[in-house]
Amino acid sequence: MPEVIKPSNRPNEEYKILQLLGKGGFGTCFKVENQVGEVFALKAIEKQAFGQNLDEVLNEANIHFKLKHPHIVNLYDVFDDSDYVYFRMELCSNQSLFDMVVNRGELTESEVRLYMIQIIDAVGYMHENNIMHRDLKLENIFLSKDLDLKIGDFGLSTELNSTERKRNACGTLPYMAPEILTPKVGYRFEADIWAIGVIMYAMLFGSMPFGRNTDSMLVDQILNADFEFPSDVEVSHTAKNLISAILNPEYGARLTLSEIRRHFFFRGPTPVQLPISALETAPNFE
Ligand code: ADP
Repeated sequence: MPEVIKPSNRPNEEYKILQLLGKGGFGTCFKVENQVGEVFALKAIEKQAFGQNLDEVLNEANIHFKLKHPHIVNLYDVFDDSDYVYFRMELCSNQSLFDMVVNRGELTESEVRLYMIQIIDAVGYMHENNIMHRDLKLENIFLSKDLDLKIGDFGLSTELNSTERKRNACGTLPYMAPEILTPKVGYRFEADIWAIGVIMYAMLFGSMPFGRNTDSMLVDQILNADFEFPSDVEVSHTAKNLISAILNPEYGARLTLSEIRRHFFFRGPTPVQLPISALETAPNFE
């Protein structure tokens, strides 16, 4: 990887690599700076590694490009040089919700309210635009410098027409809805809502609702929505009631995004923003 990236056919643009941000399935992400000192996240995907995956890369770029929302990582443009294709994105400088939950153990209900509102807003916008994310999880929800959530990684996302049911299982097993694991049933947008239920549980309890050791045990656990609330973490009945209503194995009976948003849980105190100290310790909103 060169220290300075120069897009082909754009003689006036260059991006200096400042830092490695992380490696994903088939991309490496860097913090970069342009000539006027603006910083971005730049995801580099090696052309040689494409093979038949070129379609997937183009699918990710096309879908991600269409989505402009305060809680979705902004994709500014896509360019290439001789060896790589690059996605130039909004920089999320505080890692992901996964890192925050690992550092903190669990988040407070006030924080979870704020973050659930941001997630529901962004996913509602995707669904209104017929886009299903298909890989919503703590690791794909990034944190901006102000600790706002930004949903990213559209590598598995897909556009759905009005009646189509998808049947190819994809995503990350502990977040997969029962209907994804039942190809004859097939799945639509409700499966993203299930993943939001798993995310809410993980934020509140610092552990996963479905986490059995073997994949086949995990699948059984998901199909039966067989989860428990740990007794060592104090969480309100209202919050637990909402999680149970989202993690309904019957996709037709699962809460919709607007039903979730109207749930009693959201009547509790909700901060406008989190202090940067929330990355390490529970904020005191008194
Ligand atoms: P892949 O699709 O190949 O899994 P990701 O899009 O998840 O790749 O990116 C890989 C890693 O790069 C992420 O885990 C994260 O650490 C980092 N990353 C991705 N996008 C951003 C961003 N916009 N800002 C900051 N870091 C990012």
